Amino acid sequence: MSDTLFPPRPTPIVPVKGRGGFPVARIFCVGRNYAAHAAEMGHEVDREAPFYFTKSAHAVLLSGAPMPYPPRTNDLHHEMELVVAIGAQARDVPVDQAMDAVLGYGCGLDMTRRDLQAAAKDKRRPWDTGKDFENAAIIGRLTPADQVGDLAALPIRLCVNGAVRQQALLSDMIWSVAEIIADLSTLYTLQPGDLIMTGTPAGVGAVVRGDVLHGTIGDLDPVATTII
Ligand code: MN
Repeated sequence: MSDTLFPPRPTPIVPVKGRGGFPVARIFCVGRNYAAHAAEMGHEVDREAPFYFTKSAHAVLLSGAPMPYPPRTNDLHHEMELVVAIGAQARDVPVDQAMDAVLGYGCGLDMTRRDLQAAAKDKRRPWDTGKDFENAAIIGRLTPADQVGDLAALPIRLCVNGAVRQQALLSDMIWSVAEIIADLSTLYTLQPGDLIMTGTPAGVGAVVRGDVLHGTIGDLDPVATTII
């Protein structure tokens, strides 16, 4: 039997500057990757090991589209993050070869129902309802890696209604992009189509309907949305 019972849901496709579209498969997110953000959430900073959670590809909202305020929360937070797009298979890659798997970079917002995440943490339950919901992964147009210079030097910033909320340098990341890819590749066989959201700097906070979010990382295309 070849007919499906209903049409498969379309794969979200993120544009890549000058190169067509990047069909999204999986989204891996890094927890607590900036010391100042770990501290503001009440955690010690350590280099024990990075940890991860995931979002469904169907959580993608392309930058520029409005984000409807999600249900069952009164504390929707922004988390501005560097997004790494994987363009080659990577499994058990060493740190010094990890960057070969990178297709490009973008700006992203890891939108979070903080109240649901906090309740899950209290009860040692999974974070899914706090992190993986419709429109919770807002992704800007990607820039090919060969057009991006020294990542570490780039400033990452998020403004809400024109006021700076989050600001740091990518060099403030506890785990570098290469270290994250190398570590993730011991847990998963990374494949073209995978995205990695690399963690957020300090300054996370709530947004409400009508707020305009605008995030930048160096010269990468910005990520922007309005909460409606
Ligand atoms: Mn995050």
